Amino acid sequence: MARIELHDVTKRWGGYYAVEHLDLVIEDNAFVTLLGPSGCGKTTTLRMIAGLETPTEGRITIDGVPMFDSELGINVPPNKRRVGFLFQNYALWPNMTVYQNIAFGLSNINESGAAVNEKGEVVRDESGKAPARKLTKEEIKRAVDRVSAIVKIGPFMDRYPSELSGGQQQRVAIARTLAPGPRVLFMDEPLSNLDAKLRLEMRSELQRLHLSTGSTFVYVTHDQMEAMTLATRICLIDNGRLQQYDEPLTVYNKPNNLFVADFVGNPAVNFIEASGKQEGDAVKLSFLDGVQGSFTPNGGLKIADWYAQDDKQQAEAKAKAEAAAKQPGYVEKTNKDLPFPYHIARVEEPETENRPAATREDFVLGVRPEFVHICEDGAITGEVFSAMPTGMETTLKIKVGNYLLTAVVFGGVVYKIGQQVRLNFSGDNIMLFSRQSGRRIVNGEMKL
Ligand code: ATP
Repeated sequence: MARIELHDVTKRWGGYYAVEHLDLVIEDNAFVTLLGPSGCGKTTTLRMIAGLETPTEGRITIDGVPMFDSELGINVPPNKRRVGFLFQNYALWPNMTVYQNIAFGLSNINESGAAVNEKGEVVRDESGKAPARKLTKEEIKRAVDRVSAIVKIGPFMDRYPSELSGGQQQRVAIARTLAPGPRVLFMDEPLSNLDAKLRLEMRSELQRLHLSTGSTFVYVTHDQMEAMTLATRICLIDNGRLQQYDEPLTVYNKPNNLFVADFVGNPAVNFIEASGKQEGDAVKLSFLDGVQGSFTPNGGLKIADWYAQDDKQQAEAKAKAEAAAKQPGYVEKTNKDLPFPYHIARVEEPETENRPAATREDFVLGVRPEFVHICEDGAITGEVFSAMPTGMETTLKIKVGNYLLTAVVFGGVVYKIGQQVRLNFSGDNIMLFSRQSGRRIVNGEMKL
């Protein structure tokens, strides 16, 4: 129903860049989550697509039709974009029944909203335009019935909002948003007012809803779990800049950089500083104060080739930025992009992190907790520092020297604090990052 394209979209207030040169294609019927820390520019991005915020520059199209174009002077108002909104504060009218709440918006619908037939399709005249007339009572009833069946609130139509649970109220709000048949549904943290159990339930319903409506969903959240579980693609932003735009499992397994690796995954990834060089296929590394490992990059990658390619890309990006800085009207970014301060977990945390300048033989390993494999013949010896069993799995903190590694063990295994364990790193999804830039070089296998 709707494909959205953002081309070089920027929103700034003075020198503060809330969104910086964003290029994004949201495919028809996608479920895209905009994810990132507080203040990173998620809501601003959503509001610009919806027409609630005017970009400083750039171009936004829906189904190829420009909604905003700074060069052509186009800015289509939100009510003409045929989009729906669902926000955190979904205030229903307390003095109206569920039916009236949902029907309310439909009684004032204009030609850019849409009457729908019994199949839920927009009613159009011969020229393809949706008619500029008010909907009849029957059409309104049909639309209300259709959406209330989707969110399963049929039995509550005569109740008032105060007679509904939080989750039911939320479903009414969703029905009200869906009723005019929006081609895009914008949601800004719509579940954040609900308790943990209800949130889980509503997540699953949103996924079903996405399937049954066929609409394109754009969803803002700072909850990485919500983003992972709902999205067909995650758009991860930091300080106004796109960090990665990929399917959830790609973001999880192949993060572009240390920031992405850290932001996604719970419990968080283990970062381990390592140094060494490639000899033949393998990179001989030393880490955790004396552990030696042999890392084999997937696909036989040569680290030197990666650096050569990376140098080229960085030089191009630098030249582009310098050219942009010479353009008239250029405004320098005051909210500077700083290197990501990755955290190394230690028993005794240093007061200040001393990070000497890194060379090309300095790396950071990223090891997901499920790949810290506890086994009798493990090469690393550690001690259980804490153990948190949930029944389905146990999250362990393991002390290795002064370092702490997080491991997840599946099944109901019992561990005692202080118990000695041995461990390896399993699988071929051990990540190798450049310590100089924080970018991921390659994934691979680690033999200890
Ligand atoms: P949160 O998760 O906290 O809602 P967000 O990622 O949605 O954060 P945005 O609301 O998009 O963040 O804001 C991005 C940045 O732009 C923030 O640093 C915010 O302070 C800034 N900002 C937003 N609106 C304005 C404004 N009208 N004037 C100046 N700065 C603004």
